[in-house]
Amino acid sequence: MALTGLAIFKHLPKTNCKECGFPTCLAFAMKVAAGQEGLDSCPTMTDEAREALSAASAPPQRLVKIVGPKGEVAVGQETVMFRHDETFHNPTGVAIQVSDVLGDEELKARCQAIKGLTFHRVGTDIAVDLAAVKNDSSDAAKFTAVAKTVSEQTELPLILISADATALKQAAEGLGDGVKPLLVPSNGALEAAAELAKAGKYPLCVTNGDLEALAAASEKLGPDVSDLVICPGEQESPKVIEFLTVVRRAALKKKYRSLGFPALAFATESDPAKAAIQASSYVAKYAGIVVLDTVEPWAVLAVLTTRQNIYTDPRKPVQVEPKLYEIGSPSDSDPLLITTNFSLSYYSVEGELTAARLPARILAVDTEGTSVLTAWAADKFNPETITKALNGFEADKAVKHHKVVIPGHVAVISAGLADESGWEVLVGPKEASGIPSYIKNDWKA
Ligand code: SF4
Repeated sequence: MALTGLAIFKHLPKTNCKECGFPTCLAFAMKVAAGQEGLDSCPTMTDEAREALSAASAPPQRLVKIVGPKGEVAVGQETVMFRHDETFHNPTGVAIQVSDVLGDEELKARCQAIKGLTFHRVGTDIAVDLAAVKNDSSDAAKFTAVAKTVSEQTELPLILISADATALKQAAEGLGDGVKPLLVPSNGALEAAAELAKAGKYPLCVTNGDLEALAAASEKLGPDVSDLVICPGEQESPKVIEFLTVVRRAALKKKYRSLGFPALAFATESDPAKAAIQASSYVAKYAGIVVLDTVEPWAVLAVLTTRQNIYTDPRKPVQVEPKLYEIGSPSDSDPLLITTNFSLSYYSVEGELTAARLPARILAVDTEGTSVLTAWAADKFNPETITKALNGFEADKAVKHHKVVIPGHVAVISAGLADESGWEVLVGPKEASGIPSYIKNDWKA
């Protein structure tokens, strides 16, 4: 049974040292009781206390790691149903499927395409995390060789999918020491695959759309294989989303440990656009891993963008350093655009300028990471704060025209800003997408 905050508090050092990130031991205990913190965050807890508390205070959903030759992907250990309740912790692993019936050239091309699925968005690199090798050939030797090639060429952690436990064993062991792929056997091969997972310490996926049967299987495997992933199998999207939602709720709300594992879902649509929608839906609710069978960059980018948006911590505004940025190699007669230091605002402007190859400067005003309209409504993006930034970053030394372009959404501050700063204030477009045509057609130094 789950412990109360007070029961946990009794075992803590009670020094209120704050090293766990909370102001008091009691506050930390309450978070642990709610399943939102782990005991490891308290470095001064005694071993006896840790032992006494660990079973009862374990997170409601297990953390599972899939290890590749160059790194690992950790999924699960989520603590809330809704991102705004706290944050989501471990982003959904996005995997691309590779069939072992591909010829050598096709396989090489598929691996290169997977490696190329990395994008730069809002100042961050986003990329696929895993490759899922599927044993369509029913040939253990072929499966083993393809898994090795995919591992070497993509350097990603692998998911191995086969109905043959022998093929899983050979392929997993062929990846080398320290590499721990996720084994996905068919139901008939589960028992033998579980033995392999136990011996090799591999994470294991249990596939069953029937929740009672799934819970029974996880209870049976639990003592030997703790790194479990659960999967509803290939079903229609509504059924998969229902499965993902029910198991998440059972684990987090009912503390039902038999379903407290990250879930894997397959985007089965053959049309890449539909597969991207399917996979994005699973990322939103509540897959730990999604497997896609496409390498179309635009389709994968849609899924990665969904993931990036959902797994951004809502408690920490994503922001860029407030300063005067140069885009391209601007001269002193190129435009000076004003925006806030909210990442999405800054990178929307920066992206449009870069894509249109327009040299310019962007002054990112410190609004504590809030967007233009939010900052204006909160009185953080006003004539005083903008003037302070213009002066602080010595914008008058960078440009000689003494003109600034403000976002069209805050046209209302233009007169006040002109009075406060002494700069000529031009009202730009409301959306960043209008900036290139504005500069080409309306800007004059
Ligand atoms: S780190 Fe441990 S001892 Fe320090 S405040 Fe947190 S719970 Fe208390």
